[in-house]
Amino acid sequence: MFRRCPSCHLVFQAKEVKKELLGADTRVQKDYLVPAPMKWEWQDNFDKETHVHTYRVAYKCKHCGHEWTDLSQKK
Ligand SMILES: [Zn+2]
Repeated sequence: MFRRCPSCHLVFQAKEVKKELLGADTRVQKDYLVPAPMKWEWQDNFDKETHVHTYRVAYKCKHCGHEWTDLSQKK
């Protein structure tokens, strides 16, 4: 994903200057496996856990010097 400077609209000029962890979420998602019609096997339902980290990232444009912050989420 490219960061575009909101001031001069150039891409590839954003430099990450600060990264701050805001929080971490654990999301549990139920996955159900449906048995295939010709194959009568029971399959267990299982829980899928994903951890989502939210960061506040500060960028500075190398072209015009504009600074801004953005939220980024990583699994
Ligand atoms: Zn700029």
